Amino acid sequence: MRAYDAIVLGAGPAGSSTALRLAQHGWSVAIVEKSPFPRAKVCGEFMSASNAAVFDDLGIADEMASLAGPPIRRVGLFARDDVLAAPMPRFQDAAQGFGRALGRDKLDSLLLDRARASGAECWQPWTAAALRREGAMQICTIARKDERVELAAPVLVAAHGSWDAGALPTQTRRKARGSDLLAFKAHFCDATLDADLMPLIVFPGGYGGMVTSDAGRVSLTLCIRRDMLQAVRHALPGAPAAEAVLAHVTRSCRGVGDVLRGARLETGWLAVGPIAPGLRAPYADGIFRAGNIAGEAHPIVAEGLSMALQSGWMLGGLLAAHGRSAEGLGAVGATYARDWTRTFAPRIRAAAAFAHPSMRPAATGLLLPVMRRFPEILTWGARLSGKISRPLAPAMGTQAS
Ligand SMILES: Cc1cc2nc3c(=O)[nH]c(=O)nc-3n(C[C@H](O)[C@H](O)[C@H](O)COP(=O)(O)OP(=O)(O)OC[C@H]3O[C@@H](n4cnc5c(N)ncnc54)[C@H](O)[C@@H]3O)c2cc1C
Repeated sequence: MRAYDAIVLGAGPAGSSTALRLAQHGWSVAIVEKSPFPRAKVCGEFMSASNAAVFDDLGIADEMASLAGPPIRRVGLFARDDVLAAPMPRFQDAAQGFGRALGRDKLDSLLLDRARASGAECWQPWTAAALRREGAMQICTIARKDERVELAAPVLVAAHGSWDAGALPTQTRRKARGSDLLAFKAHFCDATLDADLMPLIVFPGGYGGMVTSDAGRVSLTLCIRRDMLQAVRHALPGAPAAEAVLAHVTRSCRGVGDVLRGARLETGWLAVGPIAPGLRAPYADGIFRAGNIAGEAHPIVAEGLSMALQSGWMLGGLLAAHGRSAEGLGAVGATYARDWTRTFAPRIRAAAAFAHPSMRPAATGLLLPVMRRFPEILTWGARLSGKISRPLAPAMGTQAS
C-alpha cells in the first residue's frame, strides 16, 4: 500500500488544479488518470477571464497567454436565420479582461505537467476501480490491465468528471431518457467565424457553441436530446450520428452553415453522453468532490471549465490552510460545500434557465424578436452565467483579487 496526504481521482482541470495546489503547499499527492495524455475531449474549450487569479496562483498564466486563442470580446446568437452579437462583459480585475479558448489536448497536459513538476505523483494510465475506508484512511484500488495497487490517504478528492460510467460510489448510472443530452465536438480549420465572437447556437432539440481556439482552429460543440438524435438519424439513414446532427443544425441555423462553408474537419468528431447537468454534493461520505462531479452547468454557458479549475483551486487552498491532520476534515468539507454552493450554484441555475427554452422551437420563436431588438440581453446573460464572477480565495475566505 502506498500512503499519501491526498489522493485525487481524475486529471481533468478540477483534479489537476486540486493536486497542483496541494503539491505547491508541500502535500504528498497521488493523482490517478485513466487516459494517456495528450487527449482530446468533448468541450468547447472557452475559459472566462475570471480565471486570471487561478492561472497566476497555479503558475500557468504565461503558458495560457502564449497558447490560447484570441480574446473573445463578443457573445453571439445563431438561431434560425438570425446572426446576433453583443459585447462580452469585461472582467475588470484582469489586464486581459476577456476569456480565451485552449484545446483540452493542451490545457489538461499543461496542468498535469505542472502538478507533476510540483511534486504530485501521477498514476497514468491507471483507473480508480474501488474505494473503501479503514479508520481515518481512504483506500483507493487502482487498476491497469491485470495489475492492482492500493493507495491510502486521509483526504480523497473525486474529480473524475460526470460522464464516465464506473464502479466507484461517486459514479452513478441513470436510466436512458428521451430528454438526455448527447454531446458532439469537432475542430474545424478554415472556418470563417469572427475571431472575437463566441456564438451560442440554438436549434430544435438542442444547443451548441462555437469559438476560435488555439492555432486558429474553430471548436464546434453541439448538445442534442436523445429523442431528437433518433429523429435526425432516421432522416439521414446510414450517416454517422455526428453528420446527421450537423446536417440538422446547418438546416435549422443559417449562421453555422455560413461559418463552416469551405471549412474542413481537423480530425474526427468526438461524442460523449449523456451529460449530467445539475447540483450534486461537493462533500459527502467523507469524500471531497471538485469539478463536474460536484455539480455541472449546462454547457450552453461555457462555464464548466472555469468551475472545474476554480473549485479545484478553492478546495486545494482550503485543505492546505487546514493542514495535513485527519482531524477536522468534516468541518473543511462543510466550509467547502458552503463556498462551492455560494460560488457555483447560481451559474448552474442560470444555465438551466437558458438551456431549456433554447431547445424548444416555440420558445425560440417567441424570444427571437425580443433578442433582435435588444441583443444586449446576450451581454446580460453572459454576466448572469458567471463570466465575470470572481472565485472565492478560500484560505482568506474572501473574493480573489
Ligand atoms: C458539449 C460541451 C461543451 C462544453 N464547452 C465548454 C466551454 O466552452 N467552456 C467551459 O468552461 N466548459 C465547457 N464544457 C464543460 C467542461 O467540459 C466540463 O465542465 C469540464 O471538463 C469538467 O472538468 P472536470 O475536471 O470536472 O472533469 P473532466 O474534464 O471530465 O475530467 C475528468 C478526468 O477524470 C478521468 N477519469 C474518469 N474516471 C476515472 C477513473 N475511474 N479513474 C481515473 N481517472 C478517471 C477522465 O479520463 C478525465 O480525464 C463543455 C461541455 C460539453 C459537454
